[in-house]
Amino acid sequence: MSRYIAVDIGGSRMRAAYYTAEGIVPIRIKRISTRTLDHKKTALTHLEGLILSLIPQDIEIRAISVSVPGLVNPNSGTVLNAPSYPEWRNFPMQKFLSDRFNTPVIVGNDANMAALGEWNYGAGRGHHNLIYVTVSTGIGSGIIVDDHLLLGEQGLAAEIGHIPVMSDVTICSCGKKGHLEAIASGPAIAKWMQNQLARGKKSSLTFDQCDETKRIARAADEGDPLSIAAFERAGKAIGKVLASILHMFNPSAIIIGGGVSRSGPFLLEPLHKAISEHVFHLEYVRKLTLSSSVLGDDVGLVGALTLARSQYPP
Ligand SMILES: [Zn+2]
Repeated sequence: MSRYIAVDIGGSRMRAAYYTAEGIVPIRIKRISTRTLDHKKTALTHLEGLILSLIPQDIEIRAISVSVPGLVNPNSGTVLNAPSYPEWRNFPMQKFLSDRFNTPVIVGNDANMAALGEWNYGAGRGHHNLIYVTVSTGIGSGIIVDDHLLLGEQGLAAEIGHIPVMSDVTICSCGKKGHLEAIASGPAIAKWMQNQLARGKKSSLTFDQCDETKRIARAADEGDPLSIAAFERAGKAIGKVLASILHMFNPSAIIIGGGVSRSGPFLLEPLHKAISEHVFHLEYVRKLTLSSSVLGDDVGLVGALTLARSQYPP
């Protein structure tokens, strides 16, 4: 009777769930907000506590699988850099947790885990080649090529958010200029709105109201032209980069997840249009499906679970 624990670490919260050998409905799920954490404890102590609170007595856990928002070497299980958790620079998380819980541990990048989740249980079922893109505080992706997750030599492949778009000199969260994330992520959309307002452009939103993309999406829905233009600009930039991804990997599905994707057609329509405009042959889009994430908030947990079951079968 194999049991699994999947953990999804986000920028502002951690979620963990306890699963049996089958299905994606957890027996138990717990979450903590890292915004309201007791700062006397480290994020790692909270992570340990969260996992511990799910492990039942007298039942062996087959594997623990952790999805991390940052650069992870999945071969060594080392977190190289996670912007929301600066203390985890070059941190051997897999070794630490497997020593602590005496259980096999898998550590992976969140967008890669999410791609596995959507591929196995969500919008990517039945596809052999797909790309999952998450548009949120940052922009990440996971790519399935010929029925395999694309990892690369050190497991660092598919960082779509840091592809230079060149037409913009905005500084990215990584410190470089003009990356996709600096143009089309949630904070980038908000910042563009605020810059436009500072230049005298009109909107139904005030400068301070532009700090949340949810609010900008609502304003777009109510017909605010500047809010519509903000999503259009982001969608175009993402679509342009995706056209290059189509040229590289020729996927049959693009799945868009993350909080900003909930703005729906305001982001997705210009994105779709930009893909068609930039591919050099329409054969790339003839069989292509573009859809939203089906698993939503659970995509990271389900992805981590999928990897745990495939590496440590019941
Ligand atoms: Zn960057």
